[in-house]
Amino acid sequence: MLIYNEQLEELARYKAATDDPMISLYLNVTPPGDVSTQLNSLLHTARNEISEKMDAEGAERVERVFNRIEKHAKNQILRLKNTRLVAVFADSGGFWQEYRLPVSLPGQLVVEPKACIRPLSTLLDEFDRYLVLVADSRHARLFSLYMGDFEEEPDVFMESEVPDRVRVNISMAAGSGHAGGKVYGGIGDKRIESHIKDQIHKHMKTAADKTFEYFKKKKFSRFVIGTPDDKARPWLKAHLHSYLKNRLAGEFNANPSMPDTDLKNAAMETVARYERENENRIIDALFEKSASGSMAVLGVDPVIRALRKGQVHTLVVESDYRVKGYACHEDHVLSSRQEDCPVCGAPMLEVGDLIDEMVGEAILHSSEIRHVFTAHGEFEKYHAGALLRFSMQ
Ligand SMILES: [Zn+2]
Repeated sequence: MLIYNEQLEELARYKAATDDPMISLYLNVTPPGDVSTQLNSLLHTARNEISEKMDAEGAERVERVFNRIEKHAKNQILRLKNTRLVAVFADSGGFWQEYRLPVSLPGQLVVEPKACIRPLSTLLDEFDRYLVLVADSRHARLFSLYMGDFEEEPDVFMESEVPDRVRVNISMAAGSGHAGGKVYGGIGDKRIESHIKDQIHKHMKTAADKTFEYFKKKKFSRFVIGTPDDKARPWLKAHLHSYLKNRLAGEFNANPSMPDTDLKNAAMETVARYERENENRIIDALFEKSASGSMAVLGVDPVIRALRKGQVHTLVVESDYRVKGYACHEDHVLSSRQEDCPVCGAPMLEVGDLIDEMVGEAILHSSEIRHVFTAHGEFEKYHAGALLRFSMQ
């Protein structure tokens, strides 16, 4: 199930009929992780907490929800493909919501009065929702592309806004040189040609205007266009609102009659290229700023220090890098070395994935988080970096 802001708000607003808590489960199902072990360990910790803070009857009701989750995990979650994170929200009153997402986050099980929606809200912030307009001289279609889901947005355009009789190859209408000369020779033909041009411009303007309205209404963040490789693209772009032009992430060759899967692949390639460029820009900024001053840091230990001081504006982590570390969750202290917590003095606990812990801390600090998915030779030496809100003194 695709997640939108509206659903997140709904989840935040949800009020149970009883005083029983909401169970929020985030299960990291990224291969090759051992999902059963992760779930068992999360449940084990949660059961201990429940037996301490709830009476026997309440604990029994929560236990029934845990059982339902365990059964569901065995029957469904463990068989999922193309999913990296499963989020389940459930309570003893029968409330059940599940989201399957193609990006991973640390696994956690939270038993609180309200749903724990912060990780999902981070994902929403992190992933751009793309509106994709596919248009030629006569037709236009709109699609949304979000976390790998490509869906048509119906009822935005009327079918065939340009009349049938102007169903002419746009290159004939707009082309100069021999094609135009051969087809449209006389003065009468010139008038037909100009009429067709008017019709196509009208169509392009309608497509551009309706796309702009829809983009704003549904709060998309980025925009992509697919058109035939001819005059259609400059004509369409001429009619685009500057707001959309500024959010244009890329263009690809297509026409509205192509199969949806081809359109999806072309759009996803375009978006992937844009996101790679975006990644490069952030990594360039990391290196430039850390070299020229103190507004960025590189490396796990410097980033941990910056997190503790609340300096991190944007945390950048290599998405597949894992390293063991140490943590005092009481005091939000992380370390790459085994040592005592500098705040409470207790020995710090070993954690399996220090980067996940850093992401968790960054969420608490409302930092932006960028996962670097592609290989960057220089960055791979550091695994983590951060753009800072204020400088390191
Ligand atoms: Zn401590």
